[in-house]
Amino acid sequence: MPKANETILEINLKSLTHNLDFIKSKLKNNTKLMVVVKAFGYGSDAYVVANHLQLNVDYFAVAYTNEGVTLRDAGITKPILVLHPQPINFNTLIKRDLEPSLYSQKVLNEFADLAKNKELTDYPVHIKFNTGLNRLGFRENDIDFIVSKLNQTNTLKVKSIFSHLVASEDLEEQVFTLNQIKTFNTISENFIGKIDYKPMLHICNTSGILNYPDAHFDMVRCGIGLYGFGNSEKENKNLKPIATLKSVISQIHNIKKGETVGYNRAYRSSSQQKTATIPIGHADGIGRQYGNGKGFVTIEGRKAPIVGNVCMDMIMVNITNIDCEEGDEVIIFGEQTSAENLAATTKSISYEIISAISQRVKRIILK
Ligand SMILES: *Cc1c(COP(=O)(O)O)cnc(C)c1O
Repeated sequence: MPKANETILEINLKSLTHNLDFIKSKLKNNTKLMVVVKAFGYGSDAYVVANHLQLNVDYFAVAYTNEGVTLRDAGITKPILVLHPQPINFNTLIKRDLEPSLYSQKVLNEFADLAKNKELTDYPVHIKFNTGLNRLGFRENDIDFIVSKLNQTNTLKVKSIFSHLVASEDLEEQVFTLNQIKTFNTISENFIGKIDYKPMLHICNTSGILNYPDAHFDMVRCGIGLYGFGNSEKENKNLKPIATLKSVISQIHNIKKGETVGYNRAYRSSSQQKTATIPIGHADGIGRQYGNGKGFVTIEGRKAPIVGNVCMDMIMVNITNIDCEEGDEVIIFGEQTSAENLAATTKSISYEIISAISQRVKRIILK
């Protein structure tokens, strides 16, 4: 029985390389790859992931300016697209050589004005179009405004035009997705017709890469696939989760029939039972929704359901039929017991649980 000392998140770089190779095998030779490392690299370690992949990819993307700053501080030199910058951070963004997604007239105006004040030339920017997600992005009828703004000076240079798919993993929404791709084509042709150079085009996230090979355009944006999830059982088989969340049995309790476990006595034992207390709680990213029998951990290869409420720093699990002792290793998720399955117990998805693992959990890098 493997022993353990504390809660750790292991990041396996071999699995990361495996996923990179698999994703690359789906791309044409000249298609560029942008790796999405927002949210601490989907809860892993953005710098470690970026540094490991840096030489084999073309671009990185983060959500916010400060995430890009962290990568620059750590020595990442590749271009970094900031998907959702706020004007208050534009000064920092420029100072750190980050590239903004410009998605509205207000944001374009503010960025263009600042760039002009700073007397920048050809500062790289990316124009985001809304083709159905209705989250961020210009609409087709904004093109004339954007182009007239760009053509006033040579401060900005459009490196890429992009959009985001609504349901690339859902083949029942294929008609909608193909229509998004068509709309994107129309918009970019119209846009490029009005400027005298050709920016890169991109629309695919991981499931777009896998399900819409004809829509890779000049570049794809891959996040979850590199972390080991393909949004379908079939694709998951080709990928390896890079993160394993492990912990340890801190204490074992023998509970008599009728005793309760945890806060508010949420669990009541119906017989003589055995529970294990594990040092991971909602402050580590295992939300309260996993409590009361929904979520589980794996000990000795067997499922131990969470009993009672999830505490801030601990969970208790039922180990009545598991032969284990204090100090034994506990797997919360990993390659065998996937985060996707654990997330599914609360109708959640891999993205949410892996990106929620808090910074309190020590990251261990396996090379
Ligand atoms: C997060 C994000 C991605 C990555 O999506 P995955 O499904 O993780 O590959 C790509 N593009 C945008 C705009 C995003 O916000």
